Amino acid sequence: MRFFLTIILSLFFLPTPVQAAALRVPILTYHYIANNPNPKDIQRDALSVSPDKFEAQMSYLSQNGYTPITLDTLYGIYNKQTSVPAKPVVLTFDDGYIDFYTNVFPVLRRFNFHAVSFIPTGLIGGGYYMNWSQIKEIASSGLVTFEGHTVNHVNLPSLSYTAALKQLVDSKNIIQANTGYPVNFVAYPYGSSNGTVQAAARQAGYAGGLGIWYGKPGGPSMNMPRIKVSGFWSIKDFASRL
Ligand SMILES: [Zn+2]
Repeated sequence: MRFFLTIILSLFFLPTPVQAAALRVPILTYHYIANNPNPKDIQRDALSVSPDKFEAQMSYLSQNGYTPITLDTLYGIYNKQTSVPAKPVVLTFDDGYIDFYTNVFPVLRRFNFHAVSFIPTGLIGGGYYMNWSQIKEIASSGLVTFEGHTVNHVNLPSLSYTAALKQLVDSKNIIQANTGYPVNFVAYPYGSSNGTVQAAARQAGYAGGLGIWYGKPGGPSMNMPRIKVSGFWSIKDFASRL
């Protein structure tokens, strides 16, 4: 009798299983990590974080137990193939500027941090961009994955499906040929996509697409949100966005 009573009581008093909250991993977006050479260029100001501030942010992540991961690792977590590391965060850098090689890569190496670089393949080797030998050197460290950002940094929704698909496929193939690693992700230039562009990205073989709308993704998507880091943020502002 007491046994059944215990079972009946326990049905009422056992805590109901709580569903684990969806993992929301911040994906941070950076462009230039450099001091603005022209203070009158306000547009560039909005896309720049100074090397000092960037280093302080990486130091904050390190001291507070964050684990920067690649998007491949994030998808491994989504697919339950990879266990969740402590405080995962994804560091992404758009456009393949030379300051990624001079000001970012040495810091990543020092902290042993993983990162993702989105490169428009047609601009590589031009003024203020990295060249392929620098990209190969960085890729061979195993810390950074290079992902798609189209060939010509085009506004994809303005193109026909065929033209958008060509931009997405060609850039993917060129990066893969140069780094030897599969390219599974695309950041849409200007964060700009629509259903047609996302379908083309899927057909091109990308597993995920990234915009620049604000938020933290809770799972795989062809239009993931990101958090654009402002050069005007204090370290407290930075910490509050993670
Ligand atoms: Zn871009």
